[in-house]
Amino acid sequence: MKIIRINSPCFSKKMRKPSKIKFIIIHYTGMQSKRVSIQRLISKRHKVSCHYLIDRSGKIIQMVDENKVAWHAGKSKWKNFINLNNNSLGIELVNRGHRLGYQSFSKIQINQLVRVCLKLKKKYKIKRSNILGHSDIAPLRKSDPGEKFPWPKLEKKGLSIWYVVRKKYYLQKKLNNQKVRSKFFQNLHKLGYRYFSKKNPKKTDTLIVKSFQSRFRQSKINGLIDLECLNISENLARNTKI
Ligand SMILES: [Zn+2]
Repeated sequence: MKIIRINSPCFSKKMRKPSKIKFIIIHYTGMQSKRVSIQRLISKRHKVSCHYLIDRSGKIIQMVDENKVAWHAGKSKWKNFINLNNNSLGIELVNRGHRLGYQSFSKIQINQLVRVCLKLKKKYKIKRSNILGHSDIAPLRKSDPGEKFPWPKLEKKGLSIWYVVRKKYYLQKKLNNQKVRSKFFQNLHKLGYRYFSKKNPKKTDTLIVKSFQSRFRQSKINGLIDLECLNISENLARNTKI
């Protein structure tokens, strides 16, 4: 696998042990072009970086050593982990993103991502349930890699969790809205999502629902917990090794 090197000065100087690395976080760059993205990722002023960047033609660029903490995740939570930079490797995919014209990821870009992730997963014994999108761990701030990112394709390579709706556990008539909400958020909590209360609704709940939808129900991102979302979350929570 050919890897080009463009070093970013943005990383924590202290080395970390390989056993610290437990997650891979996938991002999109959300900028006009590859050139501007790289400029940003090597700018001392902006203090952002990633370990790998993959462009739309499938070129892989390494920017920070794996044993150094890169600055890609920001304020974030998953399971009992907070601020996941310390425990993760960050991979950026060149894509203009939702604000500048969200593109489908190119086939070669995804194939190269799969190759990188397979290598890293093996090297650091990363669980498939710990390969995540930025929006999973920072749902109130981020929506990358978004609903065009092909999670099912990663799942086929052992690089993501997924579901088969084996059973529709819930049917409309039996549940009121409060029950739907509490069951859905219990499932999300079990999977690892944070930034909500299982009991009390919050204004920001729609952002959590959108984050879940952009990963697991990509055909409709509306922030509403419908029965399909509830059943998907139930299937995931019951059948996933976490
Ligand atoms: Zn991101």
